[in-house]
Amino acid sequence: MSNIENENFRQDLSKDLIRQLSNIIDGNHVSRNDLKPIQFESDIFTAQFYIEWIFFSEYKDSRVAGGSYRGKRCNSISELENVTYQLDQRAKFDKELRTPFIQSLKKHGRTGILKSDQKYAINNFGEFSAQEVCQTCDGSCKTRCRSCGGNGKQRCSYCSGSGSVTQSRYNSNTRIYENYSSYCSNCGGSGNRNCSGCSGSGKVRCSNCQGHGYFIITRDIIAKAKPIYLLRTKSSLVNQELQDYLDNQSLNFIYRSIYFELHAQEASGDDKETFVYQGESVVSKQDFSVKSKVGLVPNKLAFPFINVFSFVPRICPATSNIPFNFVSIRPYKLRKFLISIL
Ligand SMILES: [Zn+2]
Ligand SMILES: [Zn+2]
Ligand SMILES: [Zn+2]
Repeated sequence: MSNIENENFRQDLSKDLIRQLSNIIDGNHVSRNDLKPIQFESDIFTAQFYIEWIFFSEYKDSRVAGGSYRGKRCNSISELENVTYQLDQRAKFDKELRTPFIQSLKKHGRTGILKSDQKYAINNFGEFSAQEVCQTCDGSCKTRCRSCGGNGKQRCSYCSGSGSVTQSRYNSNTRIYENYSSYCSNCGGSGNRNCSGCSGSGKVRCSNCQGHGYFIITRDIIAKAKPIYLLRTKSSLVNQELQDYLDNQSLNFIYRSIYFELHAQEASGDDKETFVYQGESVVSKQDFSVKSKVGLVPNKLAFPFINVFSFVPRICPATSNIPFNFVSIRPYKLRKFLISIL
């Protein structure tokens, strides 16, 4: 771990960084030979990675018209709500419930960091169900027929509701046709017929509950843990850049770049547990100059002096190819561009 004090290691860091910068610059109106290294510095930095696990509960409901109870039966919706509340309290505050999860994360040591990128179900309380009365029919299974407005009758279309029809017959005495009024045979003279939508009952099956009058709500309640992170670096060389950069990196990147050990684990609230990982790595800074061939101001440096920071994992051996994870250029804010290329 004392690579940083080794002059060869330092030179390798510098050389590799310059090589990568040359690759980026080459062809952009600049040749790689126009890049001149100036000063190189590197330093060990320390990092504290706080991963806080928050305990809570989640539930999923399924709703079936009619249907039968599943899991544990509650006598009412309010009893189901009460059970949900009680279990949510357990998910948050029952320390025994979370012990296996905490123990397993502890056992993972430093690789626990890689496990901390998602929510986990730590206990399944199971299914609870209750009956909910259909609000549309109020449990009666039926609703008023819309075709007849609920009275079960429809106006007879044959007599237009009058109950009688006008007919004509031949009078052999007068030898003319004469009109006379007759009762409507279609509706029996009543002017109404039974509604075809409800067969005269005035009611139809409730479409909301499909005629059952109720729903069975089945609730699946699960205790869960979700992580939030906080990374704090300490570097005398380029702390702010390092911190800003790492804040935008993935958990996997942070894990690969800094050698962490699990340092402590403690309750940080009644519903929270914090894992503290401590690590070290190396940060380096390379100053360089670039001379532009097509500079807007002839015979002057297009980028006078630019600082470049590079950040490499401390654990990488000095002899192997050193992966540069991080390069930033000031004051031209080209950092993102450079990073995306690397
Ligand atoms: Zn209904
Ligand atoms: Zn009629
Ligand atoms: Zn009807």
